[in-house]
Amino acid sequence: MTPSLRIDLNKIEHNARVIVGLCQEHGIAVSGVTKCVCGHPEIAKAMLRGGVKSIADSRLENIRRMQAADVETSFELIRLPPLSAAAEVVETTKLSLNSEVAVLTALSDAAVEAGKIHDVVLMVDLGDLREGMWPDELLPVARDALRLPGIRIAGIGANLGCFAGIEPSAENLQLLADLADEVERECGIKLDRISGHNSSGLELIASGKAPTKINHARIGEAILLGRETTHRRPLPDTFQDAFELKAEVLELKQKPSQPIGKCAEDAFGHRPEFADCGEILRALLNVGREDIQLSGIVPRDSRLSILGASSGYLALDASAAQDKIRVGEEVSFDVNYGALLRAMTSEFVKKQLEHDSA
Ligand SMILES: *Cc1c(COP(=O)(O)O)cnc(C)c1O
Repeated sequence: MTPSLRIDLNKIEHNARVIVGLCQEHGIAVSGVTKCVCGHPEIAKAMLRGGVKSIADSRLENIRRMQAADVETSFELIRLPPLSAAAEVVETTKLSLNSEVAVLTALSDAAVEAGKIHDVVLMVDLGDLREGMWPDELLPVARDALRLPGIRIAGIGANLGCFAGIEPSAENLQLLADLADEVERECGIKLDRISGHNSSGLELIASGKAPTKINHARIGEAILLGRETTHRRPLPDTFQDAFELKAEVLELKQKPSQPIGKCAEDAFGHRPEFADCGEILRALLNVGREDIQLSGIVPRDSRLSILGASSGYLALDASAAQDKIRVGEEVSFDVNYGALLRAMTSEFVKKQLEHDSA
């Protein structure tokens, strides 16, 4: 059945093993991040076989799905917990990333109620301007957190390269390392986890230039797609093709390359423009914007090029592959992070697990 996403679990396990090995050499433990694959239990298990220490996800629904499928590990919530769901967070996860005292208080109350201790990582914003407190807030918040009986400060962390695409550097990560020293000294505690890396940090780690105080990484894309995330460069000895999107040719017709009639907005509010290359062989496939991010897929056959998509159709120029392409044939694509996320989220894309290669 198409559209489908072929998922090669051995390649994911291999990638995890390579990344965990690289991090280990530099004293860094790895949590495998499953949010991009909607907490798919078999993918989480492949990451764990590859050596990640725990599984981190941004959504409680995903974490519950993995727990229900007997993924055995400790689970971490890496999106800030909602104040309104503190009890669910404590019930479902061992650890969460936090930046608000009100939420820490609610987590503590919920943990006391449940007879648990909930671990928190206090997040600092190093300039990427997504989650985290400004560095000068950290110490006062840590002091407040120390007074809350239901939580334990497991560490501090930062996330770079996501919202604003700010690259991790020896300098901005040194700030995190210095803050960790300060919290340990001023609060008289030892932090287990200085969690400063995600997939964007792997080249810095490999270069040996990352501050050695940073001892934890939360890694998703590098394990799934074998790339670091600042320039999307392939990482040594990893697979970039653990996922293969397949869609089927529904219609194959010789038609003009330019539309006929007065051009207004398309279904998504854009005014598309099409180059005039005369008549071309147009293939219409059964995958669309509901299932993928258009800019994030690349046909594996380089003779095919993407013309556009609506919610349920993808149009290709198949002129250069005339001899090969037929109605009913499956066409394969590589996916990037955004397209993978969308494909995993779409219930219309069948997930096919494979264990054969690598
Ligand atoms: C998504 C996310 C990660 C993982 O990022 P990758 O680039 O996929 O490695 C790590 N930390 C946080 C807080 C995240 O939201």
